[in-house]
Amino acid sequence: MTISPTSGLRQRTCRACGRKFDYPVKGGAATRHHCEDCVAVSAETRKILERLSSRVTQLENQLRRQQEKSAPPAA
Ligand SMILES: [Zn+2]
Repeated sequence: MTISPTSGLRQRTCRACGRKFDYPVKGGAATRHHCEDCVAVSAETRKILERLSSRVTQLENQLRRQQEKSAPPAA
């Protein structure tokens, strides 16, 4: 999680596509959990995207754990 110190906006990660986006943006369509692209698709599609996204996140975490195990950081 990175929070930009220069803007007062919270940076959020879209639950469906994993994109980082600023929220709230004045006049923006994005919601707390979804970026403006994913807000535009239907709820059914978004549900599938969320499922895939959570799998990707799981795989990323697994990969990171394996990398840490095989190559511990030098410092
Ligand atoms: Zn999105």
